[in-house]
Formats: sequence, structure tokens, C-alpha cells
Amino acid sequence: MKISERSKNIPASPIRKLVPYADKAEEKGIHVYHLNIGQPDLKTPEVYFDAIKNYKGVDSYTNSAGLLELREKFSSYYKKWNIPFEAEDIIITEGGSEAVTFAMAVVADPGEEIIVIEPFYANYSAFAAVLNVKVIPVTSKAENGYKMPPLEDFEKALTSKTRAILFPNPGNPTGAVYSYEELKMVAEFAKRYGLYIISDEVYREITFDGLKANSMMEFDNGNVIIVDSLSKRFNICGARIGAFATKNKEIFQSVMKMAMMRLCPNHLSQVGAISLFDLDGSYFDKVKAEYQKRRDIVYEEMNKIEGVIGPKPEGAFYYAAKIPVDDAEKFVKWMLEDFSLDGKTTMVSPLGGFYVTPSLGKNEIRIAYVLKEEELRDACRILGEGIKAYNSLKEKV
Ligand SMILES: *Cc1c(COP(=O)(O)O)cnc(C)c1O
Repeated sequence: MKISERSKNIPASPIRKLVPYADKAEEKGIHVYHLNIGQPDLKTPEVYFDAIKNYKGVDSYTNSAGLLELREKFSSYYKKWNIPFEAEDIIITEGGSEAVTFAMAVVADPGEEIIVIEPFYANYSAFAAVLNVKVIPVTSKAENGYKMPPLEDFEKALTSKTRAILFPNPGNPTGAVYSYEELKMVAEFAKRYGLYIISDEVYREITFDGLKANSMMEFDNGNVIIVDSLSKRFNICGARIGAFATKNKEIFQSVMKMAMMRLCPNHLSQVGAISLFDLDGSYFDKVKAEYQKRRDIVYEEMNKIEGVIGPKPEGAFYYAAKIPVDDAEKFVKWMLEDFSLDGKTTMVSPLGGFYVTPSLGKNEIRIAYVLKEEELRDACRILGEGIKAYNSLKEKV
């Protein structure tokens, strides 16, 4: 029997498809440093578990938009960032993932197009495939620090079917944080052509060297949708708590219908999430300081490897770079199957799956710096030795 084209068109996660190779390496007794997945190792704050433990009563459905108390917490949090969302502008979602899916579904019909800055968070392609929406790339380049592509590139990507622009800021996989001017350029472009902006701001707090990430809500013309998530911010990836927020009432009402069809987001995760908003500012100072320290280590260690072009990340917890290998995916597999140093090897993500343009990302990788200092240093050293060994092998063949 046949299965749908849409389901056949969903790309496999470029990160998860290499997991069996890592499993095999581990079966052989090799220690694998996992720098491949954006799952932070920092502890979930205790208050989250306490709130859930102390909950009494029925584990019931909540309002489809989420618990009012949580939406109010989000609203006061946004106001601290000068983002004017009220509780009634916010829908709690099953992570940022569901918020992106809702956003794509509400702005575009099948066959219509959304411009995305590549390399981008790979799941966007999967969401688009399920919705039969086309993702049209504009490219940011390692050589330019993964800065915002120029206006001409956006103009070239534009067709009569373009409905929106979608991008994460701070960026995954690039670690780039766009400047006020870069964002303004995109906002003006969107305004000129009547496009929605879907701004994925799940890493809002995680910026380095005193830099602040600007929200696209600063440029709202009734066309901005904010995608948000508590996963990375509070180390609660498993809770599945995110948010969809907009001042556009028509958009909001339509997305409410989508929210209703899945009844509600996880109730107890919402109960836990409410408590997180009462943590004081020092929580983020600590998180930021930890990631900045790790960023510095990865940047320093990777710069020691000849032929690596990797800009210094300004936010999130990723470092992306061109590395001197012929095929990053082959190289990552080889590192897991055939290479180890002192019984250890390093797993990173090849960037091919983070691009739509087929030829791109072939010699690029992403490192998620989700390990402690010394492990991170060792993992980068092993990666560097691996690159050397891989290339000398090629020369011999
Ligand atoms: C992790 C991530 C998400 C989704 O995470 P959720 O756990 O679903 O909230 C969305 N966008 C980006 C850029 C991410 O890195």
C-alpha cells in the first residue's frame, strides 16, 4: 500500500541518523564525546521538580492556550525585555517545535514558500515537508561570520508565493547573533513585500561578551510571530514547554484552533515551568558565564587546527566551522568507526542537513558545547588529531 508523498519527503534528522555509529563505537568500549546534540548538561533548577512534587489534585487538561498563570509569567518576563506581550497574546506550546509548526501552518498554504536563512535548525525542513510548504534558502557564510546575507539575496529568493521569513536568533547551528541593523533590514524587506516574520528566539538569554539579542518584536508591524521555548533556557528539554506569541489577532485566533486540536500542552510541565520564572537574574548570569567559558575553549582549541574557518560564536551554545575534509558526513562516520585516541573519540554534526542548497555544508560541522571544560578541550584535541589522520589516510590511497 502507498504512503503519502509528504511523509516520504521528511528528511531524516541529520544528527540522529548517525547515532547507530556512535552506539557501535560505545559497544566496542570507546568513549564517545557527544558534541553532536543540543542537549545541555547543566542541571534543571530544583524549584521545577519541587513544584511538580507539591502538586495535589487531578492531572487534568488545561486550557488549550496553557495555564493562565504561566501565560501571565511569560507576559511579565517579556515586559522585562521590552516586548509588549499580554497573556492573551501567548499560547503555550509543546516546545518551540510546535510553535514553529503552528507558525508555518498559519502563514502558508501547501505549495507556498517561506524564506529561511541557511544553515538553519534542521527540523524546520521536516515541519515544512509535513505541511507541504517550501523552504527557500538565503545563505550565510562561515567566511563572513555567518552574518545576515545581503538584501539582494532576499530579493532573489522572493517569488509571488513567498509568505514569510523564518530564522533563529541567536542562531543554531551558527552561534551568530544578528545586529540591530541586520534585523532592521529584514524587517523593512518583510514590510515592503507584505511578509510575515517568524522569529525563533529560544536562545534569547544566551549571548556573550555583553551582547544583547534584539527581538524582532522591536520591528513589529502586525506581521511578527515569536517562537519561544524554555527547553534550552532552563535545561528542561524533556518538559516540552514553549510559546507562540503575536500581536496579530487573526493569526492568534487561527493558531488557537490548532492548539485546541491537541487539547493542551503537558499539564505538570506547565506547573513546574511557572516556578522557573521566579528564579533571580543570577541564574542566567551563571548559565551565560558557563557557556561563554566553553565557547572560549572551543574557539581556542579549534583555531589550533590548520585549515579550520570558524567564526567566534556570539550566542546560543554552538560553534560552526568549515573543516579541511572532503566530506564532513563521511568524516564523522569515520571518526566513530575507525578512529580513537587513548580509547576516546569525538562526535560532531555534519552541516549538510542544515542547508537546503544541496552542494553546501559538505565540509562544515557543528559543535554543541554541552560538556564540561576539560572534556571539551580533550574532545577538540581528538577532533584535530582525527582530521590529520583522516587526511593522511586519503593521501596514501
Ligand atoms: C532546540 C531548538 C528548538 C526547539 O526546541 P524545543 O525543545 O522544541 O523547544 C527550536 N529552535 C531552535 C533554533 C532550537 O535550537
